[in-house]
Parts: sequence; structure tokens; C-alpha cells
Amino acid sequence: MTRRFEIAVFEGDGIGPEITAPTVSLLRELAARSGDYALDFTDAPAGATHYAKTGESLPETSLEVARRADAILLSAMGLPGVRYPDGTEISPQIELRKRLTLFAGVRPVRVRPGQPGPLTLPEGREIDFVLVRESTEGLFYSQGTGEVTETEARETLRITRDISEKLFRFSFGLARRRKAAGRGPGIVTCVDKANVFRAFAFFRAIFDAEARAFPELQTRHAYVDATALWMVQKPWDFDVLVTENMFGDILSDLGAGLMGGLGLAPSADIGLDHAVFQPCHGSAPDIAGQGIANPLAMILSAAMMLEWLGETQEVPAMIRDGERLRLAAERVVAEGRVLTRDLGGNAGTAEAAEAVRAALFA
Ligand code: NAD
Repeated sequence: MTRRFEIAVFEGDGIGPEITAPTVSLLRELAARSGDYALDFTDAPAGATHYAKTGESLPETSLEVARRADAILLSAMGLPGVRYPDGTEISPQIELRKRLTLFAGVRPVRVRPGQPGPLTLPEGREIDFVLVRESTEGLFYSQGTGEVTETEARETLRITRDISEKLFRFSFGLARRRKAAGRGPGIVTCVDKANVFRAFAFFRAIFDAEARAFPELQTRHAYVDATALWMVQKPWDFDVLVTENMFGDILSDLGAGLMGGLGLAPSADIGLDHAVFQPCHGSAPDIAGQGIANPLAMILSAAMMLEWLGETQEVPAMIRDGERLRLAAERVVAEGRVLTRDLGGNAGTAEAAEAVRAALFA
């Protein structure tokens, strides 16, 4: 029996539509060839361009499409020149995280031997870890409501037991699945600053309590500053890292740097009922409309979506196809023949997407 899934598509701003089109086309072809599952795509208009035209950045109708969907695929939103009257940027992707309670920001960091990047990997080593960034509270809790006077400014960090428990359970579950798939040793590291802040001692204590339900996994604690050092010195030692929102925001860009840039960094924002899959990069207005954007981070995000749908909806064919799509994109990078400009090549968006397609269906 063919299982059908509804995908909400936010093609977004800038390079968004350029990287969305080839990604959706790869997903359509995978589903059509599989026969085990079908994907129906519904466009959800939102973002800076939409705001400039209509005065709405995230229309209720688009939010409804997202709520009804089985998964949400999003490119990037926001344009520096389009702002709300208070001067802040249009960022429906952040609003979606809050409105749909997407507490787990999943940022995989993967570097295969031979892949161009800032680190020379020792013989026999590769990088394959996942950073889980809490995405609804932490230091982002007071976003837009911080107090600023002539003489001082205050922002409030908030960590709740409820969200932390969900975040840690998700992270342990992820480590368990990675271990079962042979992708990791089953080690979860809680990244915090528990030596200085009571809020992080609270965070760490919840981590330790949740860990008891996963005796087959190992747990570690690390301070965020030391983690930044180790991410550069021995990133192959990590498996799953879990941390607060602001720490995760910063460390995930360091992770993207390890991979050779934002053009290769996929992500997912996952809650109990909904999940958004999107590249880590923004709308890249400086290269929009030129057909030169790197589509790989978007394609890798779509691969994560297939794997997540396959796991949560119990469709093994989707898990397999997600993995095949990821491996095809990774092969294109490792071979280095068809690379976009951000990776030192001269291929365009269409050419790079076609190289993934060729590797996928070879
Ligand atoms: P950006 O990620 O859009 O671009 C940073 C640099 O990386 C630029 O030089 C850009 O050309 C390059 N780049 C990014 N993605 C690329 C790709 N796929 N291929 C090739 N090069 C790529 O960050 P920015 O310039 O700080 O932000 C631009 C806009 O995007 C802003 O309005 C910002 O608010 C928004 N933004 C959105 C998201 C999101 O939707 N999740 C994330 C970050 C920034």
C-alpha cells in the first residue's frame, strides 16, 4: 500500500525559490520511483517578499498549511532591506519554531575523508556528529522584550523543566537510533556552563535524570567554551551534543565552518507534533537570481525530512531513500568535480542538483 504524506513548502526569499525547485523535484522523483510512499506538496507563502507585497509575513493560511502537513520544508526567509516598523527583520522561520513548539534544533556535522574543508583529518578519521540546539527558550526567550535604558540593558535566559526533559529525551533517542544504525557509539554530551550559572546546573541535573532511562548510552558533560575548542581539535570524538539555544546558535555555525561552509549545512527543527527542515544558511540576497546558489544544504535537509518521516511514520522505504539522498549529496562533495562557487568550483545550482540526481540514480 502506498502511504501519502503532505509536505508544506515555504520557498522563502532570495535564493530560496532557486534551491527549493530542484530539491522538490528530487523528492518527487524518489517518491515516484519508490511506490511505497507518495508526497503531496503545498506552497505556503511567507517571508520578506510576501510581507513587502501584502503586509503579512506569516499569513494564518500558511501557518494552517504547516500545521496540517506531515512535514515542513523551508528554504530561507528574510531580506536585510525589508523590515518591520521597529527595525527588526522579517523572520517567520523563528516564529514557526515558537508557534509549533519545535524545541529540538538538529544540526548534523559531517565531513568525509577527502572532503574540502578547513581541517585536515587524521588518517582513518571522519567527522559525524549531531548538535541538538534547544530552539524555543534559553537566551532567545526574551527576544524582542529585553529591557534597555540609557544606562543598562537586560535580557532574560529561561530554561524550563518541561522543554528540557523533551529536549534530552529527543537527544537520547537520536543517539540510540544512530548507535543502532552504526553511525555513532551512543555518547550524549550535555554542553552547558554549569560551573558559573545556576540555570545551567538545573539544565544539567535534568539531563542526568533523563539519562537514567537510557542505560545503554554513555553520557558526558562539557562546558561550552571547551566544546568550541574540541570541535576544532578533535571533532571526530563527538556523537550527539545537546545544548541551550544561544550556545547552540553559535556552535552550529562553527559546525558549518568545519564542513566547509553554510552551503553544506542542513538542519531540522523538531517538536512532538511538527518538524521543519531547512538549510542553516539565510536567503543570500547577494547571489540571488544568478543561478549560482549551492542547493546541497537544502537537499541534505530534504534527506533528513525523509528519514524523519520514515522513522516517525514507520515507512522503511523513506528511511532508505533519505539515506540514499544524503549519500548522493555527500558523494558529489567528496568527488569534488561539480562544486558551486562557495566550495571553490564553478558549477551553477542546476548543475549541482543534477550531479546529485545522477549519483542518486546511477
Ligand atoms: P546568508 O546565510 O544568507 O549569507 C551569508 C553568506 O553566505 C553570503 O555571502 C551568501 O552568498 C553565502 N551563502 C549562503 N547560502 C549560500 C548558498 N546556498 N550557496 C552559496 N552561498 C551561500 O546570511 P546573511 O547574509 O547574514 O543573511 C541574509 C538574509 O537571510 C537576512 O535577511 C537574514 O535575516 C536571513 N537569514 C535567514 C535565515 C533562515 O531563514 N533560517 C538564516 C540566516 C539568515
